[in-house]
Amino acid sequence: MRGVNSVAIQTMKNAILSLVAAGVALLTPATAFADDHTEAEKPKWSLAIHGGAGTILPENITPEQRAAYEAALQEALDAGTEILASGGSAMDAVKAAIIPMEDNPLFNAGRGAVYTWEGENELDASIMDGRDRSAGAVTGVKTVRNPILLADTVRTDSPHVFLMGEGAEQFADEQGFEVTPPEWFATESRRQSLERMKARELSALDVDLKFGTVGAVALDQDGNLAAGTSTGGMTGKRWGRIGDAPVIGAGTYADNRACAVSATGWGEYFIRVGVAHEICARLRWDQAIRRASYADPSVPAEELEKFEGLLKMRSQLHADSVMAEVKELGGDGGVIVVTPYGETIFSFNTAGMYRGRANSDGLNEVAIFGGEEAGASDTPDH
Ligand code: ASP
Repeated sequence: MRGVNSVAIQTMKNAILSLVAAGVALLTPATAFADDHTEAEKPKWSLAIHGGAGTILPENITPEQRAAYEAALQEALDAGTEILASGGSAMDAVKAAIIPMEDNPLFNAGRGAVYTWEGENELDASIMDGRDRSAGAVTGVKTVRNPILLADTVRTDSPHVFLMGEGAEQFADEQGFEVTPPEWFATESRRQSLERMKARELSALDVDLKFGTVGAVALDQDGNLAAGTSTGGMTGKRWGRIGDAPVIGAGTYADNRACAVSATGWGEYFIRVGVAHEICARLRWDQAIRRASYADPSVPAEELEKFEGLLKMRSQLHADSVMAEVKELGGDGGVIVVTPYGETIFSFNTAGMYRGRANSDGLNEVAIFGGEEAGASDTPDH
């Protein structure tokens, strides 16, 4: 932010202050000040994960199922935490958190993926490195156990960003990925969902048929951000349908200047809104002012503190207002976000979202339903 003088910074801050004042009334206390850090106190690393959003209500889930989901989320959170706490990269943490969820049949990613109309499991994944905005994505793969790893290999070992179907599998083969037989991905409960859907002639876009996409966002000790998302898509998807999860800018985005985002929900709407990039674009401006403010010795400490609080609230507001756009168009779902200052933000307009977060200050929690801890209640209506 070199070249921005303090008058310009002050003008921008004033604009933010009045916008925040307008937005404060729209925030519930649960979503504001989720984790409060000044520049000096910001966590060294921070991680957030999700395992899908949807009509997840306490009455629809047995205590055993709840415990199983919580344990699975904790396992993913711990895997990412281990990497970040020992100084590993955000990219490695994102992959480490996603892999156990891809391997766990509870989630709609890798093993346990939903079925297409034709009765197959077709997998999508994407990953993005906030350092240089390098990205990799795959769609419609059927024989790769951990699509998030293939997406990352597209990023590192191909000149491309996005590979599909057979081509992606040929690339996987050339890169030494083992062929995983279709039985690995198949689960009885997901097959029954397809059969129920066909019997009831539900739309492939029925909201209750797309639980369990997984994702992770991370800030590492070097200040780098990363985001990744992996899914089987939506039950009964046809005609080579591709959702938001593998689309960079819709389901996944990371930019060190702004934030890292992973989304879950009704993919068509997330593509139309460009959710992940839209949130990052809104946060980028605020983060630039934040950096400039800390770099400017003429800004008094108490003003910085006040400004910091307002910016945090505003980060939540950005995520909420983009999710409100999804809702306005008729879609639903949620996002997880981490900022360069280590704040974790959750915003969802469904009853629940499988989620968790951890940071270097000892924060470590998983949650399922709206209103529980882990960052947020459901998104307020705007
Ligand atoms: N967003 C995914 C898709 O549309 C589904 C989900 O997140 O549950 O493919």
